[in-house]
Amino acid sequence: MCGVFGIFNHPNAAELTYLGIHALQHRGQESAGICSSDGERLHVHRSTGLVTEVFSQAQQHQLPGNMAIGHVRYTTAGESDHLNAQPLVFRYSGGQVAVAHNGNLVNAQRLRTQLERQGSIFQTTTDTEVIPHLIARTGPPILNAVQDALRVIEGAFALLFLTESGLITAQDSRGFRPLSLGKLGEGWVVASETCALDIVGAEFVRDLRPGELLTISANGLESTPCLAPNPRAICSFEYIYFARPDSEINGVSVHDARKSLGRRIFEESPVEADVVVGVPDSGIASAIGYAEASGLPYELGMMKNRYVGRTFIQPSQELRQQGVRMKLSPVRSAIAGKRLVLVDDSIVRGTTSGRIVRMLKDSGAKEIHLRIPSPPITHPCLYGIDTARRKELIAAEYDVPAIQEKIGADSLYFLSAEGMVEATGRADSSPNRGHCLACFNGDYPTPIS
Ligand code: AMP
Ligand code: SF4
Repeated sequence: MCGVFGIFNHPNAAELTYLGIHALQHRGQESAGICSSDGERLHVHRSTGLVTEVFSQAQQHQLPGNMAIGHVRYTTAGESDHLNAQPLVFRYSGGQVAVAHNGNLVNAQRLRTQLERQGSIFQTTTDTEVIPHLIARTGPPILNAVQDALRVIEGAFALLFLTESGLITAQDSRGFRPLSLGKLGEGWVVASETCALDIVGAEFVRDLRPGELLTISANGLESTPCLAPNPRAICSFEYIYFARPDSEINGVSVHDARKSLGRRIFEESPVEADVVVGVPDSGIASAIGYAEASGLPYELGMMKNRYVGRTFIQPSQELRQQGVRMKLSPVRSAIAGKRLVLVDDSIVRGTTSGRIVRMLKDSGAKEIHLRIPSPPITHPCLYGIDTARRKELIAAEYDVPAIQEKIGADSLYFLSAEGMVEATGRADSSPNRGHCLACFNGDYPTPIS
């Protein structure tokens, strides 16, 4: 999973891209990069680390030009290595091109093997690198080359390309990953989430359409339907966990969607309790929804320490066993002696929920009724979200009563798939309104190779 941001026609393109990818930092913390164009050549800086670690002000100033693209990366395909940091920049017979990719290609390995047999030499281990090689094979003009490449890659992609003279964006035919277009003065902005448009003061124009290729240049916007759209398969996990609550995805506020998930899980599974507690951050909105629907008070049962960065020295195993907890701390007065409805967004491997239940019980919670506003995850994601391998998924191995016992909760309920789809506001069956549910039911929307 990653975040992408692009801007065209702004004198401070690199600085705004820095702000844009900073607003998308939650989508990837492994590496960050920006590539700008001064109209004649591309300039790039990228490395492993957080946006603030990778870029100093001087580095932003070394990225001249009035257009740029940026990327934050979370490894799902390839290794976590500085060579895999994006944007990838390459030179083909038509000039320089940079590419930034959010998503995951399901046929990248097969394409890579074919390309290598034909003489391509790859520099990285990312799935994204097949795209530049495919572009180089077709050659200029760039739009034709990108179109040819898009017709052979399969999977999830929200792509940004930067050439010396403009930007091209492309969406896969099912629209797995969000990508929005905004207007800023005389310029244009594209971003994985609307929160990144907001941060630079851009006005939301519309979401990119599945299968659409959009060229942004001195001639304005030119939309080319490139791939025949398939039924929409927006990733459900964007609403459940991934996206920021202040973003809107396909016209649905992520915060509102999470609250509705909470209301819906109350309707499906009410329980006698004293207070509702949400696990920070992504469980909170659903907990508020549950509290509103049930009439139970919402309580701040846990605090999250926001300053546990990746560079923080983690306590030794011995200290951890003594109860030193880094990320979450219980608020004893809010929970002691109470029956809790505890809401967390999802259970993947099951380790987090087990730890939280234990921590809250140790702090005096009388009963814990765990409510998960998403269905059990039984299948791995192939489209860019790290939901673990199948045998690591607790719900692929155990049924709900067994999970409840392992976690130590007094009751456990997962939202139904229908409930989830209805609550996130995309219940109608028009082609533009479908969800991907593959990690919940194994029904993968693409062919898998
Ligand atoms: P666990 O069940 O221990 O694997 O952890 C589940 C918790 O991790 C959930 O409460 C989510 O907040 C968070 N989570 C869910 N999906 C992901 C993901 N793809 N990457 C990182 N964290 C996630
Ligand atoms: Fe999202 Fe799950 Fe589909 Fe992956 S499989 S795109 S996590 S809904």
